[in-house]
Amino acid sequence: MIVMKFGGTSVESAEAIERVAQIVASRREKLPLVVVSAMAKVTDQLVTMGQLAASGDSDASLQLFQAMRERHFSTAKSLLGEKRGASMAPKLETHLSELENFLRGLAAVRELTPRGSDYLLSFGELLSSLIVADAFTIRGLNAVWVDSRACVVTDAKHTRAIPRMSETREKSKKKIAPLLLKKRIPVMGGFIAATAEGVPTTLGRGGSDYSAAIIGAALDADRIEIWTDVEGMMTTDPRLCPEAKTIKQISFNEAAELAYFGAKVLHPATLLPAIHKNIPVYVLNSKNLKSTGTEITAQAPRSRDVFRAITAKTGVSIINVVASRGIMVHGFLRSVFEALDRHSTSVDIVAISEVSMSFTMDSKRLPKALLAELEEIADVTCDDKQAIVCLVGEDIHGKPGIAASVFNTIADAEVNIRMISQGASEINISFVIQESDVPKAVRHLHAQFFPAAAKSLVHKKNGSGKRARVNGRGSLPQRARAASASAATVVELAQD
Ligand code: ADP
Ligand code: ASP
Ligand code: MG
Repeated sequence: MIVMKFGGTSVESAEAIERVAQIVASRREKLPLVVVSAMAKVTDQLVTMGQLAASGDSDASLQLFQAMRERHFSTAKSLLGEKRGASMAPKLETHLSELENFLRGLAAVRELTPRGSDYLLSFGELLSSLIVADAFTIRGLNAVWVDSRACVVTDAKHTRAIPRMSETREKSKKKIAPLLLKKRIPVMGGFIAATAEGVPTTLGRGGSDYSAAIIGAALDADRIEIWTDVEGMMTTDPRLCPEAKTIKQISFNEAAELAYFGAKVLHPATLLPAIHKNIPVYVLNSKNLKSTGTEITAQAPRSRDVFRAITAKTGVSIINVVASRGIMVHGFLRSVFEALDRHSTSVDIVAISEVSMSFTMDSKRLPKALLAELEEIADVTCDDKQAIVCLVGEDIHGKPGIAASVFNTIADAEVNIRMISQGASEINISFVIQESDVPKAVRHLHAQFFPAAAKSLVHKKNGSGKRARVNGRGSLPQRARAASASAATVVELAQD
């Protein structure tokens, strides 16, 4: 069997869902299981509805709810026609009235807990998957809607739940294997799951990719296909740099590193279940069926370029912690790490001296209580609106001059570097710059390290097309290093 996951833009409208049905029909013989995201922007709208309701603005929240309701009904109607659309309506209505009641309740109590937020966000995938399943059926595909909350079991870390693989495997096999045997096509919502007690959870924003991989690993899929709105994993985000080109083949390690450091095309934890079961993952464009996309496997052939890709992760804060005068230097670092541990804080890049430490983390996940605690032992400053730029490639290890070339390029771009990390991971060089410098830095780096893609641009600029080129050959032995994406998830999978 294979798992096919379609993201928000791939199911954003009746027309898009029509295309998805054709893609799935073309894979019918391979026994597909389909995982879908909420229709594009719906999860963001649910977040806003929740915030408005919790702030007491019930009217604004319900206005947004009505627009979302209309969108789902009109999509269902144009896909299913008047008659079948009408018979589908009660199914949608049941969920929509639950959602409306929840929003009204929220406006009364004015508090949205993480548990409530998971419940709220689950409606996006519930609605889209119901519509897609019916759209398939009416187009002659033997589809059946399956409730993900009855298959994917997680812990109770609401908003970023971690899968419990053995329970998930057991439940998924029981629910889904008999359907596949009958050649039915299960259609499930991604992103949503439930605890063993049945309380709804979510796998973190962008988590439908992760759902696909979890289900794929649970059912020993032959391949996992992630269908999205670009031609695969690319040498950088094409929105930042239009010269970005598709990476034909990439290793699990490299792809996991890229996902962790900001390549939104894959949720950072997606590859862990696939690595665990050695299942190849493909990233494909649902709007261009001719493109072969990206193949992600344990080992990928060397590329001509030094790096596979460049990513940028924005919304990062740098926290500088300097031991206060009079505080014993001995034990200072231990106290800082203990504080980080107490607040379950995961940091990205760290720089340390005897009396000071700087670290970066996602600004949205920076606990105020952590800063208050650190202020008791140190002088603390915090710089927001920073970004981590990361260059990934398995061939960079032990190659003289690569780091110099990266930093010279950044100097040419007149961008100031705040922190550097090289060597902590053998396959990346990362550094911190101001968020506003990201487009400039990434474009310069891309032109330098992917000269073929940039050739036309260079010709236009200086007429010669000649550029300094750093050559990289030779490869690392494949390491069994688990992706840095989520240590907790690695542990969980390893327990299986
Ligand atoms: P989906 O809704 O299908 O899950 P996402 O919006 O989550 O799609 O991810 C696809 C987007 O990821 C692309 O539109 C692209 O802008 C962005 N992206 C960031 N980095 C990369 C990269 N290296 N390769 C491809 N896409 C990338
Ligand atoms: N709908 C969810 C989100 O927008 C999950 C996903 O699309 O992968 O975060
Ligand atoms: Mg996504």
